[in-house]
Amino acid sequence: MDNVNLTINGRQVSAPAGSTILDAAVAQGIFIPTFCHDPNLPGVASCRICVVEVKGQKNLTPSCMTAVREGMVVETESPAVVEARKTILELILANHPQDCLTCEKNGDCRLQDYAFIYGVKEGGFTGERHNYAIEEDNPYIIRDMNKCILCGKCVRTCAQVEGRAVIDYAFRGFRTKVAPPMNNTLGDSDCVYCGRCVAVCPVGALLYKPMAGKGRTWEIAREPVTCSFCESGCQFYLNKKGGRVIGVSAGSPGLGRPLCLKGRLGMELLYCDDPVTPQLKKGDVFQEVSWAEALGLKGVIDKIKKLEGE
Ligand code: SF4
Ligand code: SF4
Ligand code: SF4
Repeated sequence: MDNVNLTINGRQVSAPAGSTILDAAVAQGIFIPTFCHDPNLPGVASCRICVVEVKGQKNLTPSCMTAVREGMVVETESPAVVEARKTILELILANHPQDCLTCEKNGDCRLQDYAFIYGVKEGGFTGERHNYAIEEDNPYIIRDMNKCILCGKCVRTCAQVEGRAVIDYAFRGFRTKVAPPMNNTLGDSDCVYCGRCVAVCPVGALLYKPMAGKGRTWEIAREPVTCSFCESGCQFYLNKKGGRVIGVSAGSPGLGRPLCLKGRLGMELLYCDDPVTPQLKKGDVFQEVSWAEALGLKGVIDKIKKLEGE
């Protein structure tokens, strides 16, 4: 593929034709913030935090969707760019809980990181705020939609990677929310609890329930492992604190197939010092079940017992 030459922040760089300004900047170690962008999920350029200034263009342009051109001159931190990013952060923080001290995502949150980088301490606007109930009606995922910044990564990963499309945008305007059909809870949907949506969420809106309260993000080391439960070879992370495995989490889309619930529970049983008690949905409610039943082995065991009795 041919390369094109451009200038980013006064530096001469070369990037493959067809790549984006963001790709070119990242390849050079130049920081551009992103919320909705993920290289493994086709872009939508909805969050606009990655805007940059291109010489000769009237408006700021989203770097994640703008292809590099020969001779392009780009500024990623010009006064206009910084002002735009600050305004976006102020808009988000105007309707966002600021309980970072106790938030499970503290230390691994893009909103927190970018607010720090751009010196935004609080929302710059007053108005109505969301007051959604925190969803904890299933054993595996906590959803706090008050912290959702509507980046859509969970929607895209569920539809495109997981292939289930369990969640989507619901309502319009201020009421816009990510939700399963009919604004039901996740516990009342076709969710298979692969956890991939949790893995891509850039803030504390989605959390792994079994790991809640078990450690701060900076205390947890993540070790990539391949599931050996079936022949698919899904990728996931072992989360370790002080040498103890405190939970299993899904890998990012770049790590290949997401773990299925059976695989995640099986890996928890295999690796965790304190594995969760498995629960399966029976009718409308989750019920604690044996590991054999959770892992789909109950039928096999029942058959063996029957054969032994014959
Ligand atoms: S999601 Fe991020 S910004 Fe929001 S409370 Fe949690 S750590 Fe703070
Ligand atoms: S856990 Fe998996 S199936 Fe459920 S909403 Fe998230 S990505 Fe979709
Ligand atoms: S729940 Fe997380 S990933 Fe999904 S739209 Fe909200 S912030 Fe983005």
